[in-house]
Amino acid sequence: NRKVVLAARPDGNPKPSDFRLETEAVPVPGKDQLLLRTRYLSLDPYYRSLMGNANGTSNPLDIGATMIGSTVSEVVESDNPAFVKGDIVCGFAGWQDYSLSDGSELQKLDPESAPVSTALGVLGFTGMTAYVGLTTIGVPKPGETVVVSAATGAVGSIAVQIAKLKGARVVGIAGGKEKTDYLVNELGADAAVDHRAPDFADQLKKAVPNGIDVDFESVGGKVFEAVFPLLNHHARVIVCGVVSQYNSNEPASGPNLLPSLLEVALWKRMQIRGFGVDEHSDQFENFQRDVGGWVKEGEIKYREDVVQGLENAAEAFPRLFTGGNFGRLIVKF
Ligand code: NDP
Repeated sequence: NRKVVLAARPDGNPKPSDFRLETEAVPVPGKDQLLLRTRYLSLDPYYRSLMGNANGTSNPLDIGATMIGSTVSEVVESDNPAFVKGDIVCGFAGWQDYSLSDGSELQKLDPESAPVSTALGVLGFTGMTAYVGLTTIGVPKPGETVVVSAATGAVGSIAVQIAKLKGARVVGIAGGKEKTDYLVNELGADAAVDHRAPDFADQLKKAVPNGIDVDFESVGGKVFEAVFPLLNHHARVIVCGVVSQYNSNEPASGPNLLPSLLEVALWKRMQIRGFGVDEHSDQFENFQRDVGGWVKEGEIKYREDVVQGLENAAEAFPRLFTGGNFGRLIVKF
């Protein structure tokens, strides 16, 4: 059994050397247990927070621990009446070839209804994050302007398309021309802005002539600094993530905008709401019905950035923080 363990706490951006590939015997299932063989592993920005920081401020995973992660696996042995050999399941097996499970947190997948890797993306928790953010928090009305950051990524690409289906005018923010072109030409965004352009803030302002009603925020930092002055009265800020901050050892530097944040929130009657998709499992059926339907009808497109082999996961993970991924980043075993 090959597994990737945490070798060192990152100092800023994670590096391949912060991980180590190890080998051990394949585990043997006990009573009522299943042996799972991993087929796909998703790489998500939040794993970074599990790795801790070199300065020791927060260190949730132990050094030497197997990296945690969402997976699609095949049941290779089962002593559990609810599963048979050959079943494909979505779960949380981590960065390893084989794992044991008691079945309690597994979701069975139907390989006939969709490619099983989609359970880690558009039809899984990143798709659901986009759905929950827009349908329970942002709730754009037709004609309103929605801005989505990290807009070609796993969450953002689906948020762009759901917002379009809701009749909004959608502006995507992404890094580089290939991604901004994709947003407009493939995902149907009304405009797209490159956050690396020197005049990014001006370009964003021009792209939202009526201001911003809903900000689907996945990046924070400089991106939110450009969004903030453009927010309209009654704007909703969906705080999905702040990926630009996950590698900082220190609190964000720069001007202290806290007092003006509250002042502006008050006079613009704004909502700024953070959320975790894990707290919205009651929306799962609606999500499956709506997004599952849109994917089947071709109304929602998705893009997977597939890395071949667990041995390449450590090199691929840091790309999430440099924009080196284009679409849902997954490892195929
Ligand atoms: P993505 O597939 O979007 O990959 C991350 C992307 O973020 C990169 O490709 C890059 O895109 C962009 N990015 C990274 N660093 C920066 C930076 N410093 N400045 C600007 N852009 C940057 O990842 P996910 O879709 O998996 O996650 C997106 C966000 O959603 C993350 O913040 C994540 O933590 C959050 N999330 C929140 C959940 C919740 O329940 N609240 C659940 C799942 C995800 P580019 O090339 O365009 O710069």
